[in-house]
Amino acid sequence: MNASLPSDTQAATVKLLIDGEWVESRTTHWQNVVNPATQQVLGRVPFATAEEVNAAVAAAERAYVQWRATPIGARMRIMLKLQALIREHSKRIAAVLSAEQGKTVADAEGDIFRGLEVVEHACSVGSLQMGEFAENVAGGVDTYTLRQPIGVCAGITPFNFPAMIPLWMFPMAIVCGNTFVLKPSEQDPLSTMLLVELALEAGVPQGVLNVVHGGKEVVDAICTHPTIKAVSFVGSTAVGTHVYDLAGRHGKRVQAMMGAKNHAVVLPDANREQTLNALVGAGFGAAGQRCMATSVVVMVGESRKWIPDLKALAQQLKVNAGSEPGTDVGPVISPRAKARIEELIESGVQQGARLELDGRNVSVPGYEQGNFVGPTLFTGVTTDMRIYTEEIFGPVLVVLEVDTLDEAIALVNRNPFGNGTGLFTQSGAAARKFQSEIDVGQVGINIPIPVPVPFFSFTGSRGSKLGDLGPYGKQVVQFYTQTKTVTARWFDDASVNTGVNTTIHLR
Ligand code: NAD
Repeated sequence: MNASLPSDTQAATVKLLIDGEWVESRTTHWQNVVNPATQQVLGRVPFATAEEVNAAVAAAERAYVQWRATPIGARMRIMLKLQALIREHSKRIAAVLSAEQGKTVADAEGDIFRGLEVVEHACSVGSLQMGEFAENVAGGVDTYTLRQPIGVCAGITPFNFPAMIPLWMFPMAIVCGNTFVLKPSEQDPLSTMLLVELALEAGVPQGVLNVVHGGKEVVDAICTHPTIKAVSFVGSTAVGTHVYDLAGRHGKRVQAMMGAKNHAVVLPDANREQTLNALVGAGFGAAGQRCMATSVVVMVGESRKWIPDLKALAQQLKVNAGSEPGTDVGPVISPRAKARIEELIESGVQQGARLELDGRNVSVPGYEQGNFVGPTLFTGVTTDMRIYTEEIFGPVLVVLEVDTLDEAIALVNRNPFGNGTGLFTQSGAAARKFQSEIDVGQVGINIPIPVPVPFFSFTGSRGSKLGDLGPYGKQVVQFYTQTKTVTARWFDDASVNTGVNTTIHLR
């Protein structure tokens, strides 16, 4: 496996994976994969043709026949091997991930680790996929359930976690006995492809995992393909809503994990130093490009006095390339993303918010071409402003002030998104009230980024999620399997013949 990065525009092409073969796409539509700190071209990604998507799905359909019959222990052992390989290659993949995505190397390692945890969990599918059994539900009758795979499944992933999110999807789908077609983000597919290589090395058979690249056309082809039974999507709300609708209308199971505007509510009794550190880390880490990033701080009552400290702490963060030691805030993914963030900052100014800290026009020596936006802080924000209503997906924190916890809860529940939220307090009663009344999928109590570990499932409410079952944990085993219920009676020769029974009762 060669993880060295091409150094010029003759960059290597990213391959499709179809039926166990690395395939050079025949498309005429290519896009560069670009280092966001330098604009260096790292690779060229194809937008696959309709024939290539069909070939990937057909390969998955053929492979399904044998794979669904492969013993569960054999499937788990491949995941055991995969987790060992990911550990072994983690540093090398993190370097590629940091280069193509822009996050710091430490954060890239975290991206891989959070995915690795899902692979570890996949190793216990034997007990996760067990059915239920009830003996003697009627005379001599037993009822039991089988959790069977559903067929060819597909996954569509965003740019911000190119390791973790593909690993939310294909390991769990495959270990449950399905075959898979993955469509990674076209902006940073290189680290995802290294993980796919490792999956083949771990023993995932030919055709069980396939990869196609591209954008809307490929996604739409997946959503409408008659063979595909289930689609997992992670990305923005606009695209997720489209995918949910299109794939749903074509008879597929769909889970769509979407955009966010995560509020941190700060009560005056909170531990001041810990809270401020948490807000700055969660607001500006990974350049605010985490779906669970804190993007709104709701200061309740006297906690508003901490705003100058929040600003002072944010000012200390070091903006630099993710590969440089000591970097806190790396570049955002693309010049387009940077322009959009800056346009939203300008809208905040125009709509009357106070720009306490302006991250526009930062210059990073040695990386003058990078897509950098520095930590940006707004106060005096109201709920009608675009910087409040829209997901910015950059290092921009907006502060609102309210007088009571009740007002804060109502504010959070009125926002259309419901991905994550946090409460900072020392009061158990306040925390209990908050966790009970808040309508948000992931709740942190003195935890800024409450992403669940894989034996729970990632959740979300309202504008942040469509579909009832979330990624990983027990929910995803339900998503990637169908339940069959068997009711059985076995007769032996000594059975008493009870005659014809025309009722529906089992006796
Ligand atoms: P995106 O929606 O632009 O892209 C996601 C995927 O959809 C990509 O694979 C892309 O190729 C494809 N796509 C893009 N435009 C499309 C279109 N018009 N039709 C069909 N498919 C299309 O998202 P992104 O910018 O890559 O990622 C950032 C977004 O993802 C943010 O909104 C973030 O909050 C969200 N996100 C959510 C979660 C979660 O679990 N809720 C996790 C990570 C990221």
